[in-house]
Amino acid sequence: PATQVKTLSELLLSPQAAMRIPNPVPPKLLETDKLKLKLDIVIGEGNYGKVYKGKLTDEQGNQTTVAVKTLHPVGDLEDLKREFRMMKNLKHENIVGICCELMETEKQEMCMVMEYLPMGSLKEYILENKERITTLSLLKFAMDIAEGMDYLEECRIIHRDLAARNILVKDEHSVKVSDFGLAQEPNEGNYYILRTQRSLPFAWYALECIESYKFSHKSDVWSYGVTCWEMFTRGLDPIDNLPTDPEELKRRLKNGYRLTAKSQCEPNIYTKLIRRCWDHQPSERPNFSEIKHIIRELRE
Ligand code: ADP
Ligand code: MG
Repeated sequence: PATQVKTLSELLLSPQAAMRIPNPVPPKLLETDKLKLKLDIVIGEGNYGKVYKGKLTDEQGNQTTVAVKTLHPVGDLEDLKREFRMMKNLKHENIVGICCELMETEKQEMCMVMEYLPMGSLKEYILENKERITTLSLLKFAMDIAEGMDYLEECRIIHRDLAARNILVKDEHSVKVSDFGLAQEPNEGNYYILRTQRSLPFAWYALECIESYKFSHKSDVWSYGVTCWEMFTRGLDPIDNLPTDPEELKRRLKNGYRLTAKSQCEPNIYTKLIRRCWDHQPSERPNFSEIKHIIRELRE
C-alpha cells in the first residue's frame, strides 16, 4: 500500500523503498509543473546525452540534490521514455529511484530526474579504492546487486546492461542498480527491437546472447558474474583481454574460454560465485535468489 508522498525528501527517504512486491504500485511522482530544476556540473556522459548533478525545488521550497539524465538533440525521445517508464514503476532500496515525471531543462532538453548517488559508479569507485577495499565490503556490494536483480526478476524485467559502470555507489556500504537504457520491459511479446544506436556490451553477454540474441534472467546472471569479476579483481585484470569481435568472442566462449582472475580475487569467490554464472547451460547457472544464498555462505 502506497502512502501519500508529500515532499520530495519524503519520497527519497521513504522506508517503503525496501518494499518487495512484484509490479508494485508506482510511487507517486511529483508533478513537474510545480518543480524548479537547476542544473549544476556534469557527472557523467551518457549514450543519449550528459548526466548532471542538479537541484530540484518543490512548491514548499524543499530542495533536493538530484541526478539529471538529459537527452541531447539527436537522441531518440522514445528511448528516454522507455527507460523512464520502466524505472518509475520500480521501488527497491537497491534500484536507483526516479523523482518526478520527465521534464525539460532550462535549455529545453528532455530529461529524467533521479536520486543522486554522490559516490558515482562502482567501476570508478573500485579503481579509486582498490588498495583498501575489503573482500567483505565487496561481498556486501555483490549482495546489494543480487537483491536489486532478484527484485527485477520478480518484476520480470531483464536488465541487459549489468556492469560495474552501471552500478552506483550510495555510500561505503551500499550500491544500487542503474541505467535501464537497454532493459527489456515485461509483456513485450517475443520480439524486441532495440531502437537505440548504442553498441552492445558483448564482453558482459552470455554465449546465447551473442549467438542468438536470446536474453533472459539467466543472461543477466552471466553479466552479474562479469560485474562481480570486475569488483573482485579490483580492475587489475583488464577485461580487454577478451576479443572485441563478437564472432571471435563467440568462438572462444564456445571452446570454454572464460575470464580468469589472476590477481586479488579469492579463489573461493571465483569458483563458487563468479564462475558458476558463466555456465554454458543457462539452466545450470544459479538464479539471483540462489546467488544471495551463495554470498551468505561465502561471508562466513
Ligand atoms: P548511459 O545510459 O548513457 O550509460 P548512465 O545511466 O549509465 O548512462 O549514466 C552515465 C554515468 O553518469 C554513470 O556511469 C554515472 O557515473 C553517472 N550517473 C548516472 N546516474 C547517476 C546518479 N543517479 N547519481 C550519480 N551519478 C550518476
Ligand atoms: Mg551506463
